[in-house]
Amino acid sequence: MPSKTIEVTPSAYAYPLLIKQLLRTPLVHSPERQIVDADGSHYNYRTLFERINRLADGLSGLGVEPGATVAVMDWDTRRYLECYFAVPMMGAILQTVNIRLSPEQILYTLNHAKADVLMIGPDFLPVLEAIADKLESVRCFILMSDAAEAPQAPVKFSAVYEPLVSAAAAEFDFPDFDENTQATVFYTTGTTGNPKGVYFSHRQLVLHTLSATAALGSAACQGRLHREDVYMPLTPMFHVHAWGFPYIATMLGLKQVYPGQYFPDRLLKLIAREGVTFSHCVPTILHMLLHHPLVEQTNLHHWKVVIGGAAMPKAMAIAAQKRGIDIFTGYGMSETCPILTLAHLPTARIEAPPEEQAALRTKTGLPLPLVDLRVVDGAMQSLPFDGKSTGEVVVRSPWLTQGYLNDPESSETLWRGGFLHTGDIGHIDPYGYLQITDRLKDVIKSGGEWTSSLQLEDILLQHPAVMEVAVIAQRDEKWGERPLALVRLKPELADSISENKLRKHVAEQVEKLGLSRYAILINVIFVEGLTKTSVGKLNKRAMREQFGTAPSSPNDENP
Ligand code: AMP
Repeated sequence: MPSKTIEVTPSAYAYPLLIKQLLRTPLVHSPERQIVDADGSHYNYRTLFERINRLADGLSGLGVEPGATVAVMDWDTRRYLECYFAVPMMGAILQTVNIRLSPEQILYTLNHAKADVLMIGPDFLPVLEAIADKLESVRCFILMSDAAEAPQAPVKFSAVYEPLVSAAAAEFDFPDFDENTQATVFYTTGTTGNPKGVYFSHRQLVLHTLSATAALGSAACQGRLHREDVYMPLTPMFHVHAWGFPYIATMLGLKQVYPGQYFPDRLLKLIAREGVTFSHCVPTILHMLLHHPLVEQTNLHHWKVVIGGAAMPKAMAIAAQKRGIDIFTGYGMSETCPILTLAHLPTARIEAPPEEQAALRTKTGLPLPLVDLRVVDGAMQSLPFDGKSTGEVVVRSPWLTQGYLNDPESSETLWRGGFLHTGDIGHIDPYGYLQITDRLKDVIKSGGEWTSSLQLEDILLQHPAVMEVAVIAQRDEKWGERPLALVRLKPELADSISENKLRKHVAEQVEKLGLSRYAILINVIFVEGLTKTSVGKLNKRAMREQFGTAPSSPNDENP
């Protein structure tokens, strides 16, 4: 018998999953809660809602229609949050522009997405000046400022944000439309070649919000996000919807703090001043905060932090726990909206010693509700959940980009076999926890065996003299490839250490942990700093270009 679709009463309301629906709850539960900017200016959810209406009315007056693409270039501010809602709620598409890309790449992304409107913060006018005459589709510029007037150059501005919002009507009729309507677009942070556009619908963003909220709220004892938390993003709003947290925090009606540009002293002061209890960031940002002198005077005992975007080293987990930070891992990527997994600590382990907890807090995590995540071999066969069998992570969930914008070939490659290919390698343990061990592109193959660069980085970071490290593959005549560690030492301990001592440290740990013997082929080079991508992750591609063919050091031990 064929399955039966439900009967729909003509007057029944179908309730499309639209971003505007996320605003219902805070307006009922916590209309007075505050949303704060770095300068201390603030308003409540009623005002947020009114300003979203006003912004939509203002944009509409400037000719923005459903289907138009409205690009934003700014630091993390309340205005950006207003754009997160107003633009898609009008049926237009929000393009979050990666302000850390080069002007040429920014130009590429604006032209490729066919942005109609560019809303830009004053700090980015020099970039605009560099690209203004090559912009192909932007016909309306808005300065994101409270100035009375816009400057005359480098473009003719149609409006300034605050006067536009003040002059607009306080109510806007946000229409219902198909929940599959595109809400956002942004570009992956590719380090070579052109960035690729990924895009998400209202339905996808709403389901991502609900599922991540469910996963975070169902944690029994650790890393739980609840109604009384105070949220501050530390992953920029241009990058993968700031991991979706502005939508989550708004739906829950949390107090929110928007830090503007990320200056470590400002961030630490904001955590203290506003009582921030929940953030998320890449390891680089937390590393920066943990090494800032002000950290000594800042109480971080109530701060929950999800670390993602790159593997969290155990040494960082331990250092953060010592400061009282409730740290845990999240995993995802631009193509996946982004959250796929979170690693919460089971109640039984909450009293475990820091080292043992760190091992769990740095696991990549359990899949969110509705996420079908597998580790597969080359023939797309699922590998057993044994904590050892390693293969590519592939995934299905309701919120994965359905392709790359105007790039059918790459889209098919991404989705080959009906699963989204993450390009990450990992294994799943009998409890369902995923552990990422490498990027496919970063994996090191010595003597035909894979060595995990992330595991080696983790081991090296546990050495007290090591500040930062990246392990990459170095070509080698005998072994095919061998690991090369680029190490930045802590200045105060630099004299106490040599390349050989670090290799010995690795060899001991490899022995202790029973890792691939090829790991002891590791070469070490001391460097002043490590190349990062636009979102603060290690740029291994650039490092391989610089060091991947460097002559091997005389470390010729046989594994
Ligand atoms: P992006 O698209 O720039 O956000 O980068 C996504 C990639 O970052 C993933 O495919 C992973 O390689 C890496 N990544 C994100 N979260 C983690 C994590 N928790 N552990 C290891 N790698 C991660």
